[in-house]
Amino acid sequence: MKRKVFYPSHKVTGIQLLVSGEVLISAIKTQCVVKKNEGNGHIVFSDQEQTVQFRAKAVVISNGGRQQIHPNFYKQWFPFMQDRKDQVLLGDDFLKRDIYKATMEKINTNKLKKIVIIGGSHSGFSAAWLMLNGPATY
Ligand SMILES: Cc1cc2nc3c(=O)[nH]c(=O)nc-3n(C[C@H](O)[C@H](O)[C@H](O)COP(=O)(O)OP(=O)(O)OC[C@H]3O[C@@H](n4cnc5c(N)ncnc54)[C@H](O)[C@@H]3O)c2cc1C
Repeated sequence: MKRKVFYPSHKVTGIQLLVSGEVLISAIKTQCVVKKNEGNGHIVFSDQEQTVQFRAKAVVISNGGRQQIHPNFYKQWFPFMQDRKDQVLLGDDFLKRDIYKATMEKINTNKLKKIVIIGGSHSGFSAAWLMLNGPATY
């Protein structure tokens, strides 16, 4: 029996335990579709989503944590940022390729010099490093 162990670009949306003891996994598969526009010759990239299901004998849930802005952030700590929410970015969002690229473009285009990193440890360090030196790939 051929076993598939790696499902890239799949977002799991459901996990259901079957009477057989197996687990039915539902996921949304995203595929990048590349097409040539016959009219102008331009190459067009788009994402195509498809719902897929597969069975597993066991499930390990390791989908990480998600950062959230502290409830006091705008209310008590930084009320002057209330109308500048578009200037606040969470560390794990900054690591995402599209958000990273858009943020760096904004920093460079607007020649932004004052950037405050709230928090520390390796997340703060990595964000500062990424801003100054760029990513290792892409
Ligand atoms: C800005 C920043 C910098 C950091 N720098 C460092 C560092 O330098 N050194 C260090 O040791 N740690 C660093 N960390 C912390 C480190 O990234 C985390 O502790 C670690 O990645 C946690 O691993 P994880 O496997 O639990 O979760 P994650 O790495 O978050 O992995 C979870 C995975 O699950 C996937 N996922 C989520 N939901 C679904 C779903 N429904 N279906 C399918 N897949 C799903 C996500 O796409 C992700 O790929 C940093 C964190 C941040 C935010």
